[in-house]
Amino acid sequence: MKEECRQLQDEIVAMRRALHQIPETGFDLPKTAAYVRSRLDEFGIPYEFYEDINGIVGRIAGAGCAGSHRCIAFRSDMDALRIQEETGLPFASVHEGRMHACGHDAHMAMLLGAAKVIAAHRDELNCEVRLIFQPYEEGVRGAKAMVERGAMKGVDTVYGIHIGTLMGMDIPSGKFVIMPGPIMASADVVHITVHGKGCHAATPEKGIDPINIAAHIVLGLEGIVAREFSAIHNELISLGSIQGGTQHNIIPDDVRLSGTTRAYDDETRERLERRIGEVSESMAAAFGGSVDYDYRWGCDPTVNDEKAAAYAADCVKELFGEDSVVQKCEPIMVAEDFSAYQKEAPGVLIHFSTADAVKGTACPHHNAHFDIDEDQLWKGAAAFAAIARRI
Ligand SMILES: [Zn+2]
Ligand SMILES: [Zn+2]
Repeated sequence: MKEECRQLQDEIVAMRRALHQIPETGFDLPKTAAYVRSRLDEFGIPYEFYEDINGIVGRIAGAGCAGSHRCIAFRSDMDALRIQEETGLPFASVHEGRMHACGHDAHMAMLLGAAKVIAAHRDELNCEVRLIFQPYEEGVRGAKAMVERGAMKGVDTVYGIHIGTLMGMDIPSGKFVIMPGPIMASADVVHITVHGKGCHAATPEKGIDPINIAAHIVLGLEGIVAREFSAIHNELISLGSIQGGTQHNIIPDDVRLSGTTRAYDDETRERLERRIGEVSESMAAAFGGSVDYDYRWGCDPTVNDEKAAAYAADCVKELFGEDSVVQKCEPIMVAEDFSAYQKEAPGVLIHFSTADAVKGTACPHHNAHFDIDEDQLWKGAAAFAAIARRI
């Protein structure tokens, strides 16, 4: 199947480019889903279509799967971002203000390529191969919606590949990062509204200044991560928004702060939730104000299963050699909703580097100049095929 994937390289690139031109976002992916469905039709692969969310679940039933009832799932996300593309590529986005700047176009192309090859070999397979094409990864809502509609029912293990430079620019293009344990963080959302008492800026003694309180909260929150956790423990609090006031000489009534926390386990998330609340409330109380505090649990951390990671690493090494796989790497604080599938079955999110400075593909994700090293695409398809083949 490796050779067949290699021979499919041009077709995989063509699919990636076709999808790259029509980026869509969130659950609103009519053209993208239609494209994926038309290719599955062409390859003779039956699928379920969750029309309300534009999600697709393809099924390749291997000849030997009736006896074993084993099922492995492969996941590709399909959504793009609200970014105006500036790559200047001949196949750049034709949708104003939207761009595949995270490589999900490549994920679809690699999985479709793999599906074509795997389907042609279904007689040799001992398992069912499920193809999950999900919407809305960027808002970390799509995976959960797919799970709720039954996409993971009966699945024993689940694998996904994320392409690009996410794990670092220094991992050469063509290498697979397949690590056990936590690789990507949780992403929770924090909203704090500080209540003071508005007054003239020249008479602050007549009011309670929520801007002053907000400033102390910002510094106080910095102290939680810096002083209450071990320096080698990984978690963070970032405030991305602070809003309050209308003009220079009025002290407002309220200030709103919003931010995100990242962590690799639920115990840390619980501790962050509690401490952010305590610090904010006590800072406000110290200056006579109060806060409304809202902490929302979002995406869970992506934690790779040890056994499945070792299996996938073996499969890829057999294909491309011992040094094609990086098994030790620093986890990153970015979140992925792949974690929603890992709640249902052991799973592995593989990172596949396409960072090549010479080819101009070493740009960070979510950037208007983001691009991938297309020469590697067939390898991603071959990795999926190998994982299915050896089960
Ligand atoms: Zn992204
Ligand atoms: Zn992504």
